[in-house]
Amino acid sequence: MKVLKFGGTSVGSVASIKNVKTICCSGPEKKLLVLSAMSGVTNQLVSITESIKSGDVAGVAKVIDVLETKHFEVTEKLIQDGLLQYETKQEISAILAELETITKLEYNEEGYSRVVTAGERMLTCIFSKYLKSCGVENHLLDARDFMQVNNLENPDTDLVNENFKIKVSGLSDTDIYITQGFVRRDENNKISTLKRGGSDYTATILGAALNAEEVQIWTDIDGFHNNDPRYVEHTHPIAELSFEEAAELAYFGAKILHPQTVSPVIHKNIPVYLKNTFTPHLPGTRISGQSTGKGLKAISAKDGITAIKIKSNRMLMAHGFLRKIFEVFDRHQTAIDMITTSEIAISLTIDDNRNLDKIIEEIEDYGEIIVERDHSIICLVGEAVIEDKKASRIFELLHDTSIRMISYGGSNNNISLLVGTSNKINVLQKLHQKVFVETPVGEFV
Ligand code: ADP
Ligand code: ASP
Ligand code: MG
Repeated sequence: MKVLKFGGTSVGSVASIKNVKTICCSGPEKKLLVLSAMSGVTNQLVSITESIKSGDVAGVAKVIDVLETKHFEVTEKLIQDGLLQYETKQEISAILAELETITKLEYNEEGYSRVVTAGERMLTCIFSKYLKSCGVENHLLDARDFMQVNNLENPDTDLVNENFKIKVSGLSDTDIYITQGFVRRDENNKISTLKRGGSDYTATILGAALNAEEVQIWTDIDGFHNNDPRYVEHTHPIAELSFEEAAELAYFGAKILHPQTVSPVIHKNIPVYLKNTFTPHLPGTRISGQSTGKGLKAISAKDGITAIKIKSNRMLMAHGFLRKIFEVFDRHQTAIDMITTSEIAISLTIDDNRNLDKIIEEIEDYGEIIVERDHSIICLVGEAVIEDKKASRIFELLHDTSIRMISYGGSNNNISLLVGTSNKINVLQKLHQKVFVETPVGEFV
């Protein structure tokens, strides 16, 4: 079994959905397809939840109308068979009617999740019926029946395996199963999500649960690039990354992968391929347990970082001090990403501000607190990157760029810089020039 995930742009138009059909109908092996919503649809559904909160009934109705038109149009263009087209439209109408009902109930977290995951339900319904209309047998499986993910950081893939087996038992044999990405059931059995961009994570959780041969993530770019192509010119795809390198890059902001995508497949050693739906002949990127050679591989950036400096005149670094500080963050379930210390101050960063006020209240006793929001962590990643001389060129940036913190040597595979977000693009471009353009790629010096 192979798991193939197709992202929003891959299923964003009639033409691209036809590409997806070609890809999933090639090759003899059994496939489980994990599909996202059509691009833009999840954002529209999020806007519905905002209208619900503000009591904007007309706003909700307007977006539901837009979604109906969009999905009906795609259905009409893809599915010629009259009965199948009719059935598909009925199912889309039922999903949208359910949304309308939710908007009238008391709004809560489950209501939010039910609304924002509706795009995946509509699209998988269209795609399954489209394949049927082309004579390609398949089973559409409702992910809400088996994606029991009680712990977002550490999914129980054995449980998903058991649920999946129950779900497919009794179904006729088929080579193609189709399901929705993004949605899950939580520890209270309520409908929830794997967070935005979570279909990648659905694919690797299922890959691990089903002991798949491989997981393929199909998107709109030819693999993992060595820098963020949205901000930097002349980036290029990397042929091979290790699990650790890809996990590090995804965690530190590379949008191509949901931050947790890699973790479920590491211990089962299941390779993940990143491929472009629009240029399927290109090799893309292979992420696996194999070492891919030493040296800097790629740069990524994660926004929404808050830096907290605790400054004291007392002996700050005295025995037990750091423990007390960390315990405060731990009590408020807030992970720390970067840390630097001096004799009288400690600076650290967090990416989750939800409990910031409570944290500040508790650490205020230890000294003067300075909070700086709107920062980004820029990461240079690669096996033994700290031994790679070209990575040391980051220090040349200090001549004319303001860098708030540097973490060098915390791990052999990662060097992190903290910069103001307004400065991020400039730093990404300068770094790219220094480490990839002026120093040839692949040269470990
Ligand atoms: P999908 O809808 O298929 O999940 P995403 O938009 O989530 O696609 O991810 C693909 C996008 O990620 C690319 O179009 C690209 O703009 C962006 N991206 C950011 N960093 C990288 C990177 N290092 N390599 C490739 N793409 C990246
Ligand atoms: N459709 C969801 C989102 O836009 C999940 C995904 O695409 O991975 O976040
Ligand atoms: Mg994505």
